[in-house]
Amino acid sequence: MIKTYSTPSNLFGYHPSNLSRLTSGKALRAGTLWKSYAPYYNPIFTRNGDGSFPRFRMPNQGMLPETAYKKVRDEVAQDGNVHLNLATFVTTWMEPSADRLYAESVNKNLIDKDAYPRTAAIEERCVRILADLWHSPSPHNTMGASTTGSSEACMLGGLALKRRWQNARKRQGKPIDRPNIVFSSAVQVVWKKFANYWDVEPRFVNINRERPYMDPEGVLASVDENTIGVVPTLGVTYTGLYEPVAEISKALDELQSRTGLDIPIHVDAASGGFIAPFLRPDLVWDFQLPRVKSINASGHKYGLVYPGIGWIIWREAEDLPEDLIFRVSYLGGNMPTFALSFSRPSAQVLLQYYNFLRLGKDGYYKVQKASQSVAQFLSKAIHDMEPFELFTDGSDLPVFSWRLKEGYTSNWNLYDLSRRLRSFGWQVPAYPLPPDMENVTVMRVVIRNGFSMNLAHLFLMNLIQAVSFLNSLDRPIPHDPKRDISFHH
Ligand SMILES: *Cc1c(COP(=O)(O)O)cnc(C)c1O
Repeated sequence: MIKTYSTPSNLFGYHPSNLSRLTSGKALRAGTLWKSYAPYYNPIFTRNGDGSFPRFRMPNQGMLPETAYKKVRDEVAQDGNVHLNLATFVTTWMEPSADRLYAESVNKNLIDKDAYPRTAAIEERCVRILADLWHSPSPHNTMGASTTGSSEACMLGGLALKRRWQNARKRQGKPIDRPNIVFSSAVQVVWKKFANYWDVEPRFVNINRERPYMDPEGVLASVDENTIGVVPTLGVTYTGLYEPVAEISKALDELQSRTGLDIPIHVDAASGGFIAPFLRPDLVWDFQLPRVKSINASGHKYGLVYPGIGWIIWREAEDLPEDLIFRVSYLGGNMPTFALSFSRPSAQVLLQYYNFLRLGKDGYYKVQKASQSVAQFLSKAIHDMEPFELFTDGSDLPVFSWRLKEGYTSNWNLYDLSRRLRSFGWQVPAYPLPPDMENVTVMRVVIRNGFSMNLAHLFLMNLIQAVSFLNSLDRPIPHDPKRDISFHH
């Protein structure tokens, strides 16, 4: 028998000191006490294990489930409020039926495809749906997979580019020791990780004032025969802008006709993959461009699913080199897998499919349009405020950014504003743009499903209050430069 709780007087979680106070000195056994006094003890939260416990090693004895629950919950209560988090792209709200499905499927491992064949079939169906949405020429037999997020999906997309380049170079008898990859200086950090982890030289096309995104000329100046691929971002995290995929593709077509160099594109559509098809159906950025060989998107961003899911889809089956695929017989069947993780939760995959069914294309349009309307309403209001200058207005991703007008004040900056907004509970990051625009600091707001017009008005009111407080200062706020730059994605 496992003995978890030490003394009978603590059996119900009450300390002797409390007992004696309530029983005026009479000695009582815990059992009788519970029966006669239990209704009055509620809610006294002194339980076994409520005293101090070690933080950095496992306690010797356990505690009651409710006590452990309360300890964890109390501690994270100090975290920011997810609904006031305007910094994240990741879903923080789903409707109750989705919550129910989530709770019912948390214990299924996605990799057990033989044990859970219907879940595996649903994952497969999601791959087909996305391949179709992004105009793959063969959505029914192309390759694709769910991942933990876009980060894993980008790693897989990048690895496929690298292997494809290596195989082609080997066939031509050329060296394969100096691969490089081209993206903008505003690329998400995962691509810097990719380059570092897999020994590929990163080549950055710097953004600039006139064109604050990767432009085709910059791409052409960076590529050569060792370039494994070019990675435009559909929805730059810093600003929400779409990089011009079609223009870049056209420039690379011309390069190929001039030089014979055939350089593929992977589109990092972490956010835009679930926005552009609905809000900008005419924008050509996906597999309609033959040069686009793979696309990733985050199911947990504008795919509208809770954290823990991304997608990678290849244009056609042959765009994923066969030698990267493992066929694992011990899973039952002979399942092809290409992933960095083995075990993964399956609930998010079911939720992604739930959303596809629940919303349909029309529903995705309405949800994303609502976010965009809120983004454009707020960006217009901020544009009209005296201290600010809009940088992006939410017409690509429902994300907008602004800066402090040059010379407006030397008493406060956007980091002060960010801290001030935090006192209302809002989390709004301020940060410098990447090279060559690192001297420009912006503040950014990401509008997501569930952020209503009502909340937008509240935010605006608090923003005005924060600004008028800062404007009332008669001297500069002292700064600790180490604390300037808030976390951003
Ligand atoms: C968020 C994001 C990523 C990383 O995606 P996760 O789903 O958070 O792993 C990569 N690229 C871009 C452009 C992003 O916005």
